[in-house]
Amino acid sequence: MTVKTRLYVDQPLGEGNRVSLTQPQAHYLFGVMRLAVGGAVALFNGRDGEWRGEIIEAGKRKGVLECTLQSKPLQMPPDVWLCFAPIKKTRTDFIVEKATEMGAAKICPIQTDYTNSERIKQERLQAHAVEAAEQCGGTYVPEVTSLQKLSAFLDHWPSKRQLMFCDETELGAATSLAAASRGPWAILIGPEGGFSPSERKRLHAMPEAHVVSLGPRILRADTAAVAAMTVWQAALGDWA
Ligand code: SAM
Repeated sequence: MTVKTRLYVDQPLGEGNRVSLTQPQAHYLFGVMRLAVGGAVALFNGRDGEWRGEIIEAGKRKGVLECTLQSKPLQMPPDVWLCFAPIKKTRTDFIVEKATEMGAAKICPIQTDYTNSERIKQERLQAHAVEAAEQCGGTYVPEVTSLQKLSAFLDHWPSKRQLMFCDETELGAATSLAAASRGPWAILIGPEGGFSPSERKRLHAMPEAHVVSLGPRILRADTAAVAAMTVWQAALGDWA
């Protein structure tokens, strides 16, 4: 029987393992989804694949599930980071949700010269990634890192990681990655104000950078994040 409800837990999963629920998880399964003892849930923790978890104890504030069989192996996304400058709250939430659904391995909020917000709620964004993974059937949850300054981020750039630099001023740049090679990658999307001239100069000089245009129109940052993930996934990722 197919199990519809999926739940992310942080405990190890394996045959016979028992998983204790937190109060919000118990409320969700028994109060919202109306599940009861004997029912089943699909459990995943980002490490052990997806497991069928049978409900053996159900209370208002707690509950216990037992793993019976593995329903999916762990499916890692390709090694691509989505790096973006945070924008307004709901639009930043949207970027995290879509990046998770589309298969980013890591999500890196980056503070650029023209970034409007100076802080992010990392825990809240991480919770959005968990929720997106629960909904899209993924078995992996990308880490949402803390906000880092672009200059420091580039100072420690790993030399083998290629960078898809989405530059809205480069209308003549390639719109395809067909000639690029596979391996570790990152995608960089700027804020509503775009990149500053000094940031653009530094990014253009990076040997790992591939300057990419997303077409002749200027996209909002959240649209650009989805478009860039699509272009990258279709050329070099697990859609290719
Ligand atoms: N303030 C900029 C302007 O008016 O020229 C627009 C910035 S755009 C809203 C936000 C980010 O999305 C850009 O920094 C870039 O990374 C990406 N982006 C948007 N449209 C793009 C395009 N046509 N090609 C490449 N990147 C694009």
